[in-house]
Amino acid sequence: MNRRASKADVLILGAGLAGLTAAYHLRDRDIVVLESSDRVGGRTLSGEHGAYWYNLGAQFVWDPRTIGLCRTLGLDLVGGEDAESAVFVNGRLAVGRDPYRLLMKMPISWRDKAGFALTIARLRRLAAATHGLDPQLDAKSLADVIGPASPVTKAILEMATTSGTGLSTDEVSGAVGLGYAIHLFGGNVNDTLKSVRGGTQQIAKTISRAIDPERLLLDCKVESVESAPDHVAVRYRRDGGAVEEVEATACIAALPVDSVIATIPGLPASKRAALDEMLPYTRIVSVAWLTDEQESMPWERLLAVPAIGLSFELLSNNAFFGRRSDGVRRRQGGSLVTLSTGPRAEALEALDDAAVTDKIRSDLLKMFPGTRDILEKATTRVQRWHGLPRFRKGWLERQTTIREPFGRIHFCGDYTAQPGMPGAVGSGYHAAAAVRSLLD
Ligand SMILES: Cc1cc2nc3c(=O)[nH]c(=O)nc-3n(C[C@H](O)[C@H](O)[C@H](O)COP(=O)(O)OP(=O)(O)OC[C@H]3O[C@@H](n4cnc5c(N)ncnc54)[C@H](O)[C@@H]3O)c2cc1C
Repeated sequence: MNRRASKADVLILGAGLAGLTAAYHLRDRDIVVLESSDRVGGRTLSGEHGAYWYNLGAQFVWDPRTIGLCRTLGLDLVGGEDAESAVFVNGRLAVGRDPYRLLMKMPISWRDKAGFALTIARLRRLAAATHGLDPQLDAKSLADVIGPASPVTKAILEMATTSGTGLSTDEVSGAVGLGYAIHLFGGNVNDTLKSVRGGTQQIAKTISRAIDPERLLLDCKVESVESAPDHVAVRYRRDGGAVEEVEATACIAALPVDSVIATIPGLPASKRAALDEMLPYTRIVSVAWLTDEQESMPWERLLAVPAIGLSFELLSNNAFFGRRSDGVRRRQGGSLVTLSTGPRAEALEALDDAAVTDKIRSDLLKMFPGTRDILEKATTRVQRWHGLPRFRKGWLERQTTIREPFGRIHFCGDYTAQPGMPGAVGSGYHAAAAVRSLLD
């Protein structure tokens, strides 16, 4: 076996948003980042289509920490203000200027509208009265927190929760799921959603340019991580070649849970059990629809459309942001992304990409009849993800164990903090701070 041992202050494993946030905050130190894939960004993946960008991974930025990081990096954030609210329910698309007007237009009975409004109002009061993640809510599933509700209210909250957390209301922690359940229907949600110009992956790409390219190693799959009393040794394979070894004073594991388990032997049983609870990551199938129309389309004013009863649960109009920041002239084309999460992704698993796009296109046509020509001509990109860790009920009790360093190995990633980029960016920042104090 050909081994070459080299040294660094800190080894950062994984170049997703957690690992790169940590790397950014430690860029003045001697760091080495090891990433198994041939690109940075992990579960952020963006592309360009004419004047527009599209995101096959993370769609929206909304939390103060990620917004702050984007601003520090000089990235342009485009807001979703003045988009219209919409939902596809009972076979019809309802559109309103805001969530309140949308409720009036939803094709459900008045009794169901009243029930839905009361449930949302109650959950919003509960969310407003809790600070941070509440242990009492976390001990229950979101379904228990929601309590009795009409079938249509349950279906809408189920869709919103799966889309945000990857879990059903029965499975997800009440504390983690609450915000996601009410997000799309509480207040003026479009005001809070932002997009990074050029796509979410720009965050990772911009950070990677701030790091010495010699210290950011792509195509390097970590195979094992061992913590000794005074150092950490990491073995990895570059491009599937011979095993190489690097040593450091400390290590930040910014890997998904399955990779943490596969690469770090000897984890305490309690930590291993807590990590197992986050698995398996919920599947997501995202499809980008890159269109070429000249004229205005029925989705023109929409930003995010939740859908009940289709093969996808969210339509994200990525081009909305591009147009908004563009001034008044409408440029040719557009970019839509459909997201199929959990059971909807599993239903697509056995299909090849062409069959996936056929199935989703037929559902898009239910939402927007009369756009067949545009959707049939669209270029499509299909991406299949092991998308989201499982924040099951009781997660908060396990959080300390999940986060706890193991010897000189510190952990970060969405699964250690909260779903999505807020969890990844926040935990990357904290891991960097902990390692800096260890080094100092
Ligand atoms: C379709 C989709 C839509 C989403 N929408 C949103 C959204 O709108 N808003 C939001 O906030 N969040 C969203 N998310 C979630 C968000 O993308 C993630 O929470 C976040 O990007 C996770 O970052 P991370 O660094 O923790 O993990 P990852 O991005 O998974 O990074 C881990 C990195 O480790 C690498 N790696 C794995 N194994 C090894 C190994 N053995 N050796 C070396 N490297 C390894 C991986 O290749 C990867 O680059 C979405 C996710 C998906 C999939």
